[in-house]
Amino acid sequence: MSGTAMVELPTKVDLEALRAVLDGRWASVRAEVRDRLGQRRLHPDPEWSTERHRAYITDLMHELARGGHSALGFTAEHGGADDIGGSVHSIQMLAYADLSLMVKAGVQWGLFGGAVQALGTEAHHRDYLPPIMSFELPGCFAMTETGHGSNVAALETTATYDEGSGEFVVHSPTPSARKDYIGNAARDGRLAVVFAQLITQAGRHGVHALLVPIRDAEGRPCPGVTISDCGRKAGLNGVDNGRLMFDSVRVPRAALLDRYGQVAADGSYTSPIENEHRRFFTMLGTLVRGRVSVAGSAASATQSALAIAVRYGQRRRQFEAPGRDGEVVLLDYLAHQRKLLPALAKTYALHFAQEQLVRLLHDTQTGGSSDETAQRELEALAAGMKAVTTWHATHTIQVCRESCGGAGYLTENLLPQLKADTDVFTTFEGDNTVLLQLVAKGLLTEYRDHVGGFDTLEMIKFITEQVVDTIAERTAARSLAQRFRDPEPDDAEWHRELLADRAEHQLAGLARRLRRAGAPGADAFAVFNDAQDHLLAAARAHVDHWVLDGFDAALARCPDEGVVALLGRLRALYALSAIEADRGWFLEHGRLTTAQAKAVTATVNELCQQLRPHADTLVDGFGIPDAWLDAEILRAP
Ligand SMILES: Cc1cc2nc3c(=O)[nH]c(=O)nc-3n(C[C@H](O)[C@H](O)[C@H](O)COP(=O)(O)OP(=O)(O)OC[C@H]3O[C@@H](n4cnc5c(N)ncnc54)[C@H](O)[C@@H]3O)c2cc1C
Repeated sequence: MSGTAMVELPTKVDLEALRAVLDGRWASVRAEVRDRLGQRRLHPDPEWSTERHRAYITDLMHELARGGHSALGFTAEHGGADDIGGSVHSIQMLAYADLSLMVKAGVQWGLFGGAVQALGTEAHHRDYLPPIMSFELPGCFAMTETGHGSNVAALETTATYDEGSGEFVVHSPTPSARKDYIGNAARDGRLAVVFAQLITQAGRHGVHALLVPIRDAEGRPCPGVTISDCGRKAGLNGVDNGRLMFDSVRVPRAALLDRYGQVAADGSYTSPIENEHRRFFTMLGTLVRGRVSVAGSAASATQSALAIAVRYGQRRRQFEAPGRDGEVVLLDYLAHQRKLLPALAKTYALHFAQEQLVRLLHDTQTGGSSDETAQRELEALAAGMKAVTTWHATHTIQVCRESCGGAGYLTENLLPQLKADTDVFTTFEGDNTVLLQLVAKGLLTEYRDHVGGFDTLEMIKFITEQVVDTIAERTAARSLAQRFRDPEPDDAEWHRELLADRAEHQLAGLARRLRRAGAPGADAFAVFNDAQDHLLAAARAHVDHWVLDGFDAALARCPDEGVVALLGRLRALYALSAIEADRGWFLEHGRLTTAQAKAVTATVNELCQQLRPHADTLVDGFGIPDAWLDAEILRAP
């Protein structure tokens, strides 16, 4: 072994030291949630009706608000704790306890409250943040419409300023303008942040957000507001998702969340950002915290599933083998190790990358940084992490279910609920495919500030004229260095080079392909569309590389030698599994010889066997309270 992986692996690793690395900078927030809620099994009874489930989650929300959980992410000036990173970690902890609770809290304090804080100004903060934090004012984040989910710039709801009355008229002009899937809308919501096309006498100004009351104090729909229920869902049935239609609903001028666009009493419109696309892009960028929380929560759910599957794999036996005492423990089979341990390694890698992402989010938003490039980079990283982590959750939870055989299919063993609840994580807070396109766009334009205002054609023109050559040159230099290496398969530096090289090479190839779009008479959309598979692969490759950076950062801050030895092997397993999964690409592009590709597979097997005795420690390290992992299969003798 070379690099970090060379440190000798002790037979027993210090669990507390491992947990300290995993808990990271916000260890105190994680400990506080464990102390406050960790003694109770919070999962609802699966037999409950939708209404009972919703009422239970609403009660828990009030309990969280009373315990101060909600204050973390809001400004101290209005009763909050100014701890953005802490607020994300507390949501991630709720995701271990119950995913409906996590989503309801995310809607109320992350999306709804987050939008009021990020898009509103002083009067909105003063009047609304305290009752939002206390949950006296349950609310909605009403962006998606039946007609448009991913392409939110094309929303159809209108908010037209009436100079005579000094009010906005909020209206759903077509059936497809109906707000759809909106959390908190079907039962509890009183007020909604409604995203609508802003119209004044001077014309249209693009999508803006307004505060629109949807229910009165008695819970009846407000005049002009039609509310319906999305009904039973595949999972997350403790959350009341609903639909909203507005029939010329009037709200005062002050209802406009006006940080990025103001309408004066005389109807004149002003904004610090002139370009309409760029303005909307900037507004969306301020809401990035929701996406970061979904990524982290998907990671928590994956950890819960792995904890159940690994512990079960340690106790379940099948088939005798000569020379063995009794039947073989499942986790002694290489095939079983192959199912769970690379997934565990990637889960660790994503956990550490998430910690980096939360640090970046916290430092960028707390400092009030005006560095637009850093903000674009944060948005791209959040989009990429959300896509990769939620896909990993969906895949891994299924693998964990299979690893527990028939028992994994029983509700009493929690895995079916984890599967059902996390399924939609790949879609909400941005569809994963669309998010990866955002990542690629950021990479291709090198996160330049003004690019936010570009439409697709302008972006292609910018790429072809200005960035394609720089990207290509950078890649050529790297590839040359790469070819002279003849490493051992477990060389940590080589893993980094391979993943970095793939990311750069795919991006450069993509930029060259897109260059054709700039040729006279070219159909730019067709050129772009024909390269969409390449675009997604380039984005994913970059995320894999970013994730490795997160792992290295965690290793660098770890003081315990035994933990470093363990994590070094996990890092190698993460990197080599990623390389193995894409070995066709590495072979096709001359990055691996056939012998090296075979050695990669052999090393993955070897690492699985080395890590197998530590599997329990690795899942114990997540620190998930036993009450939240109350699966029947872990109780049976
Ligand atoms: C349980 C749940 C809760 C939700 N909560 C809220 C909420 O509180 N507030 C809110 O505003 N919204 C909410 N949503 C809506 C959610 O954000 C949207 O469903 C999501 O953004 C996707 O939009 P869509 O459903 O219209 O899918 P579409 O955008 O129609 O996507 C469908 C498919 O088309 C593909 N696709 C789309 N565009 C492209 C493209 N350019 N290139 C290639 N493929 C493409 C996508 O990858 C996807 O596979 C919720 C949804 C659900 C299911």
